[in-house]
Amino acid sequence: MTEDQPTQDVLPVLVIGAGPVGLTAALALRSHGLPVTLLEAEPEDRVRPGSRALFVHRESLRLLGRISPGLDETLVSHGVVWPTRRTVYRGREVFARTYPARAATASAAPPFTSLRQVETERHLLAACHRAGVRFQWGAPVRDVRSSAEGVEVHAGDGVWHGQYVIGADGARSTVRRSQDITMRGDRSVAFHVVVDIQEDEDDPMPLERVFTYEHPGLGGRSVMRVPFAGGFQLDVQCKDDDTPEDWADEEAVRRWVPRVVPAKYADRVLWVSKYHFLHLVAERFADHHRRVLLVGEASHLFPPFGARGMNSGIADSVAAAESIAKALAAPDDRVRAIDEFAVLRREAALYNSDAARTALDHLRPKRRITRLRQAAGAALSPVVPSCGEWLERAPYGPRAGAATNTSGRY
Ligand SMILES: Cc1cc2nc3c(=O)[nH]c(=O)nc-3n(C[C@H](O)[C@H](O)[C@H](O)COP(=O)(O)OP(=O)(O)OC[C@H]3O[C@@H](n4cnc5c(N)ncnc54)[C@H](O)[C@@H]3O)c2cc1C
Repeated sequence: MTEDQPTQDVLPVLVIGAGPVGLTAALALRSHGLPVTLLEAEPEDRVRPGSRALFVHRESLRLLGRISPGLDETLVSHGVVWPTRRTVYRGREVFARTYPARAATASAAPPFTSLRQVETERHLLAACHRAGVRFQWGAPVRDVRSSAEGVEVHAGDGVWHGQYVIGADGARSTVRRSQDITMRGDRSVAFHVVVDIQEDEDDPMPLERVFTYEHPGLGGRSVMRVPFAGGFQLDVQCKDDDTPEDWADEEAVRRWVPRVVPAKYADRVLWVSKYHFLHLVAERFADHHRRVLLVGEASHLFPPFGARGMNSGIADSVAAAESIAKALAAPDDRVRAIDEFAVLRREAALYNSDAARTALDHLRPKRRITRLRQAAGAALSPVVPSCGEWLERAPYGPRAGAATNTSGRY
């Protein structure tokens, strides 16, 4: 990787959006030696929302370490790996497994690391600065015009010219809309509430991820507790007729938190968010001229179970940068290079969307038979361990660890 931008008069690749996916795209492009300018709507000193991605898969760590040597180790050293997974059904444990601690000398990456998304972004941003990415903060993109020759981006008061654009501007992507690319799929009326809670370092909770089906203290709502470095996240599945006032406003959260974890944590709430479930995938991941590539939430939105959002966005970005590097190296073959990205990453998004839907069907069963199967599985788990394993795995959907594969079908 070169530390300085090339001095010759080469148009940069423009990345839109400084979320985790845009920052990864910028790093990946720099790892190919390409000049990069990143345009971000918000100012540099913005406060980013909490209650989002925690879980960074091993494959994402590998990709990040490849495009920015050492970044994987930085994320691992600032995150946690919970050694214990536990599943509880209506107050009774049906599955528990504790993995041996990794040897301090082990060189292999851990299976994941867990830290707040704001922290992940902080380390990505520092890596971008080291890699020589140019930033334009406070530059909301209004329009992107593409042609066979290149792109023109209208942002803030200025116009930027580039060879390619990577649109990483999130769920309401202006880049996507400027190319008339629509999202297909659906959105649920039901919601879930996600709360980040600061740990009490003097008397912490055990480092374990716990999923509770039909928690008796929450009127039968399911809840997951996921540790991150310095705290944990609670994620409650609300019922269809629940109101945000009863579950998602800060006073309400203070009322129900002590029914799930010790009462002291009601005063340690860092962030509360309410989310609807979205299953949306862009109809195309590149424009007709093959100059504008969409990545991350600009091109797909999934429910969070299985941690597929940011992880698959990281894989999108690495694949997009690779295809742009190929296209620049062999201009006669550039359409094929960009199409390869667009087709493979759209397939990946459809796979992840289906997998997240499977997880959601299990988490919020619409059919009585699913609830009955869960109850039967819980009853049988003491004598048939595979029933407990099924209850443990199902909330994350099939092959959750596969969200990030850049070369294969997902
Ligand atoms: C509760 C919850 C838990 C989750 N847990 C996980 C998890 O454990 N693991 C995981 O992989 N994923 C998880 N996700 C998903 C993850 O948070 C998202 O996939 C991720 O934030 C998407 O990143 P992004 O960079 O695509 O978009 P964003 O983070 O939305 O970033 C978009 C950026 O673009 C900027 N922007 C927007 N419009 C413009 C414009 N017009 N011009 C310039 N800039 C613009 C924005 O200001 C922002 O900086 C979770 C999500 C939720 C809600």
